[in-house]
Amino acid sequence: MVPASHSAGVVSFEEARHIVAQHAARILAREAESVDLLSASGRVLAEPILADRDFPPFPRATRDGYALRAQDIAQVPAQLALVGEVKAGAVPDGSCKVKPGEAVSIMTGAPLPSGADAVVMVEYTTQSGSTVEIKRSVKSGENYVPRGAEARQGQMLLDRGTRVDHAAIALVASVGKSTLQVFRKPRIAVLATGDEVVEIDHDPGPSQIRNSNTYSLAAQVQNAGGEPVLLPIAPDERVRLRSLIEEGLKSDLLLLAGGVSMGKYDLVEQVLGELQAEFYFTGAQIQPGRPVVFGRCMRGRTEPALSLPKEVSDPHGKYFFGLPGNPVSTMVTFELFVRPMIQALSGGAPQPLVFLKARLKSDIRTKTGLKRFLPAVLSGEFENTEVELARWQGSGDIAALAGANCYLVIPPDREQIGAGESVSVMMR
Ligand code: AMP
Ligand code: MG
Repeated sequence: MVPASHSAGVVSFEEARHIVAQHAARILAREAESVDLLSASGRVLAEPILADRDFPPFPRATRDGYALRAQDIAQVPAQLALVGEVKAGAVPDGSCKVKPGEAVSIMTGAPLPSGADAVVMVEYTTQSGSTVEIKRSVKSGENYVPRGAEARQGQMLLDRGTRVDHAAIALVASVGKSTLQVFRKPRIAVLATGDEVVEIDHDPGPSQIRNSNTYSLAAQVQNAGGEPVLLPIAPDERVRLRSLIEEGLKSDLLLLAGGVSMGKYDLVEQVLGELQAEFYFTGAQIQPGRPVVFGRCMRGRTEPALSLPKEVSDPHGKYFFGLPGNPVSTMVTFELFVRPMIQALSGGAPQPLVFLKARLKSDIRTKTGLKRFLPAVLSGEFENTEVELARWQGSGDIAALAGANCYLVIPPDREQIGAGESVSVMMR
């Protein structure tokens, strides 16, 4: 059951993730489109991929060496008569059959000749004329893959809903498909708010700042598999804000940035409330990003305030996130909460957050109560991976974030963490 509170409050990080996951799980499959193989990278399959024949289609040698009968070389060294050769791509003919006491020279990727039940690596053999000496025994079945052992003809190799990565592309190529059905990319509206925010091609006044959130969000949306729809900056003024929110609700998901804090001119929640929004949380116990808001606008629940054209309306309403305007908060809350929603809207299952472990380089002191995702620098590799906090001036410090490469995750119950301790890191 998805909770449907209208006046949700501040929840823990885990609860906020759980709420988003519950809603993401309800998102229905979307329209599909046909794309060519390479354009499918990063998209989500809208059709299952079936094996068009057995995989491998013939018993495939996995080593260069000699195809033979394992029982003939139970005792080594053993001398076998060399009776032929099979290259990769060769069609095995009747003449190339391995009889007791015989061996056939074989290459990786070539079909195992009939009669043979194993391959001995060339490294363990010496050939002289038409005799080959085998110095090491093998078990029956060694160094070749039987026909159909990887998959049988007609078997499903990849299910609908699978995200297409390079391994999936290899599989699709191997069944001979050059075009495939993927789900349409969800359109994600991006709406920055704030009277002080100006477009990047405008000269900012002395107390104005350029709009960076629209662009970081658009880049994150693309990376998550969505198609960003950039809206003009909304001022901190009800009427215009409302009309831009209504515009944004025509997309599959609306991301607002700014205007969700406690300030007098933080109008986003109020205006969404006027549009009959349901709120699932209005804050999470995290830093940065505490004021993050998640909810949904239902179509035509009361007044016809939300006049969405039919073809873009979703019977389940439109989800939105109100992300805090501080650029680092905007970027972090996207990764934590928005990404899984976009993955679901793309037709796939939301992927879990992956944390890796690293050794802390220098002591950290913080306050308890919030789960923190702080810009940090990860260096070294393997067992020498180290991490340290980036020097930053708080969640407006884009330069510090751009110079960092990960987030150091601090649990809410830790006041101090000593150098040398193992800590969790979220890559970005
Ligand atoms: P707000 O969440 O609206 O209170 O904004 C928090 C901080 O983020 C303020 O310092 C804003 O100036 C800044 N900010 C808000 N929107 C943007 C934006 N689109 N680009 C860059 N900074 C922003
Ligand atoms: Mg603002």
